[in-house]
Amino acid sequence: MRGVIFLGDRQAQVRDYPDPQPGPGEVTVQLKAAGLCGSDLHLYRQTVSERAGNATIPGHEPCGVVAALGPGVTHIQIGDRVSIYHYRGCGHCRHCLAGDLMWCPERRGYGGPIHGANADYILTDARNCCPLPGELSFGAGAMMACNAGTAFSSITKLKLSGADTVAIFGQGPVGLAATLFARAMGARVVVVEPVALRRDLALSLGAAAAIDPAQDAVAAIRELTHGEGADASFETSGSAAGQNGAVDALRLGGRAVFVGLGAQDKTLNPSQFIGRQLTLMGSFVLPIHLYWDMMKFVLDHRVPLDAIVTHRFSIERAPEAFALFDSGQTGKVLFEWS
Ligand SMILES: [Zn+2]
Ligand SMILES: [Zn+2]
Repeated sequence: MRGVIFLGDRQAQVRDYPDPQPGPGEVTVQLKAAGLCGSDLHLYRQTVSERAGNATIPGHEPCGVVAALGPGVTHIQIGDRVSIYHYRGCGHCRHCLAGDLMWCPERRGYGGPIHGANADYILTDARNCCPLPGELSFGAGAMMACNAGTAFSSITKLKLSGADTVAIFGQGPVGLAATLFARAMGARVVVVEPVALRRDLALSLGAAAAIDPAQDAVAAIRELTHGEGADASFETSGSAAGQNGAVDALRLGGRAVFVGLGAQDKTLNPSQFIGRQLTLMGSFVLPIHLYWDMMKFVLDHRVPLDAIVTHRFSIERAPEAFALFDSGQTGKVLFEWS
């Protein structure tokens, strides 16, 4: 099969890999769509010496059809459409049993220690295969594996309603999916995003306002909220400015959730949230059982996840796809197979 390799210094290449064979409890899935995610770029940007010849196939947003079953797999069939949850766990620790595979001490992430989704086939555990209904595209299924799943898990922590104004910092794929979910939950959405293409995309998805952080984003949000500040905020950018903005733009008693990684400096001071009694939360991917809630929400509220996709590539064009996504001048970018 074909698979992508990162050579280091922003070089991607397509190579031949052996086809994976499923062992007990495992399946192979023929990819139909795979998303490019911001966290893939951390690997893409490593230097040649940091990569050190690492030939692990990247990509952790897999979606496709089951191609082969390992011994003992009976609950899914060849040909089933599946979105693949993106950490493989041991299956028996307290975190796996609770659905929090991302906390399993033996967790393995695609593109980390094990081969990922930027290939013709992927090997996974049968229990990681989440059913994708026929009404949803393979692209939507790929996004629900990480990008939209991360957005859904985060935004549900804010318990939004139609009475809320939510400020979303960053309109990369996670921020864009969050804009869709927050709108479908009834909230008024204000986004902060430096890239004009992404601001325009957010407005087309229903955001009430899109602020360029070259201006004072906190002041702009206060102006849009009668001087009080947003009821809730969601930080996806990982930048120090975004992290401070997501706190400082809140009203008294407001709530924020943080998902963007990046800023390594200590950016927040408790004096920013003590007196104003803010609630600040972290969020990390999603527990596997939340996939079913998200799937129902996307179907019932007709959430147009495909609308955040701006570019689609065959895997042969991986070098071009990663270079473009790395430029930041895109919405969601997908690999697709016919
Ligand atoms: Zn991801
Ligand atoms: Zn486990």
